[in-house]
Amino acid sequence: MYQKVLTNLNFVEREKQTEKFWKDEDIFAKSMENRKDGPTYTFYDGPPTANGKPHIGHVLTRVIKDMIPRYRTMKGYMVPRKAGWDTHGLPVELEVERELGLDGKEQIEEYGLDPFISKCKESVWRYKGMWEDFSGTVGFWADMDNPYVTYHDDYIESEWWALKQIWDKGLLYKGFKIVPYCPRCGTPLSSHEVAQGYKDVKERSAVARFKAKGEDAYILAWTTTPWTLPSNVALCVNPDETYAKVKAGDGYNYYMAEALLDTVLGKLKDEEKGTPAYEVLERYTGKELEYKEYEPLFDYAVETCERQHKKAFYITCDKYVTLTDGTGVVHIAPAFGEDDANVGRHYDLPFVQLVNAKGEMTGETPYEGIFCKKADPMILTDLEKKGLLFDAPKFEHSYPHCWRCDTPLIYYARESWFIKMTAVKEDLIRNNNTINWIPESIGKGRFGDWLENIQDWGISRNRYWGTPLNVWECPECGEMHSIGSREELEKMSGNESARTVELHRPYIDEITIKCPKCGGTMKRVPEVIDCWFDSGAMPFAQHHYPFENQDLFHKQFPAQFISEAVDQTRGWFYSLLAESTLLFNKSCFENVIVLGHIQDENGQKMSKSKGNAVDPFEALATYGADAIRWYFYINSAPWLPNRFHGKAVQEGQRKFMGTLWNTYAFFVLYANIDNFDATKYKLEYDKLPVMDKWLLSKLNTLIQEVDEDLANYRIPEAARALDGFVDEMSNWYVRRS
Ligand SMILES: [Zn+2]
Ligand SMILES: [Zn+2]
Repeated sequence: MYQKVLTNLNFVEREKQTEKFWKDEDIFAKSMENRKDGPTYTFYDGPPTANGKPHIGHVLTRVIKDMIPRYRTMKGYMVPRKAGWDTHGLPVELEVERELGLDGKEQIEEYGLDPFISKCKESVWRYKGMWEDFSGTVGFWADMDNPYVTYHDDYIESEWWALKQIWDKGLLYKGFKIVPYCPRCGTPLSSHEVAQGYKDVKERSAVARFKAKGEDAYILAWTTTPWTLPSNVALCVNPDETYAKVKAGDGYNYYMAEALLDTVLGKLKDEEKGTPAYEVLERYTGKELEYKEYEPLFDYAVETCERQHKKAFYITCDKYVTLTDGTGVVHIAPAFGEDDANVGRHYDLPFVQLVNAKGEMTGETPYEGIFCKKADPMILTDLEKKGLLFDAPKFEHSYPHCWRCDTPLIYYARESWFIKMTAVKEDLIRNNNTINWIPESIGKGRFGDWLENIQDWGISRNRYWGTPLNVWECPECGEMHSIGSREELEKMSGNESARTVELHRPYIDEITIKCPKCGGTMKRVPEVIDCWFDSGAMPFAQHHYPFENQDLFHKQFPAQFISEAVDQTRGWFYSLLAESTLLFNKSCFENVIVLGHIQDENGQKMSKSKGNAVDPFEALATYGADAIRWYFYINSAPWLPNRFHGKAVQEGQRKFMGTLWNTYAFFVLYANIDNFDATKYKLEYDKLPVMDKWLLSKLNTLIQEVDEDLANYRIPEAARALDGFVDEMSNWYVRRS
């Protein structure tokens, strides 16, 4: 007798039973154990952070991540699936700051790093239980009992090994870099973080009069950041453009780009008196103005320039200067802009940074302690008083803000650590070309373009909760040493606690090393590293390689499959490839399905603030996991944006799952009436009626098709084949038999 089945569509209840069965019987572990002698098919699980709740997008990633490994398991492969947790980084610190009522780094240090770090460690597990339940409900099979955790000492030690390899190749260096910087968080932001926080703002810009030296004339230069004017050390023109010296309607003589004269000076025309806006006195190419000197607007920077024995306050040339807006003359403050810094390096200009790390004006200026952007109006007023302000037009532009705390970012020169990715660009591109990107266009386009324009990887963060950068520096002679293991640290420091010390700030910072050059006391540099380096290290760090599990690592490297959302192009996809290229010079993944974002019914991005975000727990409780899984498999190609709404999910549930279920219920009903026992019969193909033959043929075609599709990562195609079969089975076979 077959177990009688109810024909209702209460799938959620039935799913719960299956979930319980899997759990009680430990089916996942058994599925691995049964195949331990089979070929290995490795899946790397990109680590989520457990200090945030799962959202509906995580359902999509989990169901796609589950699909392919499950298929491979069914094909007899042993598919290791170690779950992981991404645990370091600023979001965790910010959460703890909020909880403790702290604001900024000073207050954290006052509170104490030891208790602060302990809180961070607690905080990262806030939603762990929720994630585990969620994974179970979705039917995501992974080894959640032995996950890799990026803050574990073993994990960090593996990263240290990696960083030392990179160091030994001469690819880890300290430099100055103009970085987008959040003065409140006290840390630079990566380019993908900056991209998240652009806002349109209206601000006052300044067209300032720079007095030409020994001449009754002024050079007009425009800036959108008046607070950088006290740090001005030069002006810059385009060497190939035409500039003019004019007598203007306001009585002054000006230098500026000829093409912009009307735009800038046009308003000086006096209709009543009949005087023109300006009269051209002379023309120059930009190149002819090079090295022309001017008097500084303020004298705040003069002393710093003299101390550096560097010449300042003259016109420089660079082709980056355009005539699209402004005056065709740009003011140069090398501490506050990438282009400025380049010009500064080229002309060996002095480095003046009259803004501190908190974004406040420094004591060299009369605006000490004032947040730089708030100093704008004061600077404009002071210029006005000196007669050096030509105009302060309002200016609307898109300006980056910190995505975490909403503070306007500033571009700021910081000492920073970099991995010289530009040195391995060709390797990156070659290794990328070995990856099967699904869809192909992302690997060639978005990701390929990113690699073509690769920049050095700024990996240091001036924070607390992260993998400590493993470089010790001698304050006496500047000698630097990268430590690659606990063993090396113990040997170099002669300190036994190196064997057991927690590899986090502040504990690790207590271990010092005697400088091999001068005998001084070397200390660890204060930086921690980008948590993207953590997650990119998972192929080896999850096994504590190379300190343990060398065989296991080699067996599971590279992975055959990974899958994450498209926003990981510059995140995990990149850090994985970057690190495996630096360390092993090959890609650490062979196939990747890139997932699109989830939208609401109307194609709008889901967001909490818009109130159109779907709660994944509610959705799972209402429709069940199978219906949602099925929807994501069949609805569209995984990389396209998915519109998620209940009606569509229920439609698929009714049409596919309902039909399949009812067909089965129908079979059970009659099988039981007839006391039918399939095990007592053999399939005698020749004796079958034509409808049976037809269905069997359809079934075999289906099996072949689904097998081929899934072997080639074509999930919607496989789903559509199944959908078609169920429809034909019900509407043709069952009805006509
Ligand atoms: Zn911030
Ligand atoms: Zn030394």
